[in-house]
Amino acid sequence: KTIGVALDDAARTWPDFLALSCRATGVRLTWSELACRANNLAAGLLSMGIAPGDRIGLWAMNRAEWIIAQFATAKAGLVLVTINPAYRLSELRHVFDTVDCAALILGPPFKDSDYAAMLAEAAPDIERCAPGDAFAATWPTLKLIIQFGEGRRLAGAVDFEDIEKRGVACGHTVLARVAAEVQFDAPVNIQFTSGTTGAPKGVVLSHASILNNGHFTGRAMRLGAGDRLCLPVPLYHCFGMVTGSLLCLAHGVAIVLPGPGFDPLATLQALAEERCTALYGVPTMFIAMLGHPRFREFDLAALRTGVMAGALCPIDLMRRVMTDMHMNEITICYGMTESPVSFQTAVDLAIERRISTVGNIQPHIEAKLIDEEGRIVPRGAIGEICTRGYSTMLGYWNDQDATAATKDVAGWVHTGDLGTLDPRGDLRIVGRIKDMVIRGGENLYPKEIEEFLHAHPAIRDVQVFGIPDPKFGEELCAWIIPNEPAGLDEDELRRHCMAAISRQKVPKHFALVDAFPMTVTGKVLKSTLRAGMCARLG
Ligand code: ATP
Ligand code: MG
Repeated sequence: KTIGVALDDAARTWPDFLALSCRATGVRLTWSELACRANNLAAGLLSMGIAPGDRIGLWAMNRAEWIIAQFATAKAGLVLVTINPAYRLSELRHVFDTVDCAALILGPPFKDSDYAAMLAEAAPDIERCAPGDAFAATWPTLKLIIQFGEGRRLAGAVDFEDIEKRGVACGHTVLARVAAEVQFDAPVNIQFTSGTTGAPKGVVLSHASILNNGHFTGRAMRLGAGDRLCLPVPLYHCFGMVTGSLLCLAHGVAIVLPGPGFDPLATLQALAEERCTALYGVPTMFIAMLGHPRFREFDLAALRTGVMAGALCPIDLMRRVMTDMHMNEITICYGMTESPVSFQTAVDLAIERRISTVGNIQPHIEAKLIDEEGRIVPRGAIGEICTRGYSTMLGYWNDQDATAATKDVAGWVHTGDLGTLDPRGDLRIVGRIKDMVIRGGENLYPKEIEEFLHAHPAIRDVQVFGIPDPKFGEELCAWIIPNEPAGLDEDELRRHCMAAISRQKVPKHFALVDAFPMTVTGKVLKSTLRAGMCARLG
């Protein structure tokens, strides 16, 4: 079904259950209230001349309006283009040069960003136009800018609330007619990839693809009405919106937004005060919460399940999340913007198996592992992970070549990730093809060495990667965040490695740092680390 139909269903099935709690604004809505606000916004947008099929950008940190806008645009048959709140001018230009948007919704900006100033710099005439006109010569399709929350107002922008009021005033007759025409396999979102390996790509996803994905992910965690899911992850990314808000819509689970961006203390407070039963995060978020000096003050007894995703999760971290955070039924998901959740671990799997794999293929999706020639590799061997089924993207927006390079004619998405399948069909991620290090002709997988180093008691976090080397072609480096600032010694580390892992896997270079450069989705930018190490070594 479409997301609009799912919203009607939610309002009918769970009218008085909590749907949304936005801690930054104190807004709390039940499913019937949330559907009502989304319907008003949808009707208001249509009354402003935004038509089904139009693209509409959303550039904001997490907040109630984000969710309202997501459901409203889907209901009105619009295609929501979710924009990373941390984007700077050049990245914003990349989005608008890639996708022609008819409208843009602006929300509270990221840290010290000034969205209005950035937009005015990219499109100088943007402030001079009245709503309904073409805003700027630079982006001739852009007709309307809507704003909510703090942040400097653009002169021609309309308030989010005013669009909702227009929707109340004009009624929902047009909306009902439009919503009935929306097809379940039509595009509903364009999401940009994290940009870990290159320029972010605009991924086009359909209603059925992402709604079903949320549905099956939630079913695996046995989530239902009465559950409360805490989402410190950004909503603009598939983790927050597909497995997050759409899962909640499909199962009547409450969406708890602990804050505009990730903050360990705010998340711990939200978990305790809202008695959340589920929590999502990338490994670094769990590390920050567990390492917070006030961690012990919070009662997390209601927590039961959740998802750890986005990057490789060290085994010792998983153990602490399951015991110290009570998330005994936590699952690991594997996916990507192009194919949101394709693997998920079962909640009752033995801990050893749950932490060493990303679980089994999701219902109604296929997977295979292939070698460089496209042949399926024998069970147990390393190959590139490919997925096929309802969950895969329709394609990259306006980029047939990139689409053809990732999604082949038979519908398989080639993920660029390496893995192995065990006899039960559980997938183990070995790493990205691009991160594999070839040292003296031997393939080395940084993840294996990261896991080994992570077990060292003085190491809080570690990243292993390759840099060019005149003798071996590539050499391994390790960047380490120690638990105590002066608590680690390079020679000691080297001896520790030499004693336990084979010689070629021992990093040649070590560096101790306080933090890693990250994408806002919480992924470590290995390319930046690599460049930093090369600069350090001259
Ligand atoms: P880009 O495609 O722009 O380089 P990206 O691949 O990081 O960026 P996303 O779509 O946000 O963008 O992330 C998907 C990737 O995240 C996967 O291809 C995989 O490498 C990694 N990933 C996701 N889940 C897991 C997991 N459970 N374990 C290990 N890696 C994971
Ligand atoms: Mg990718």
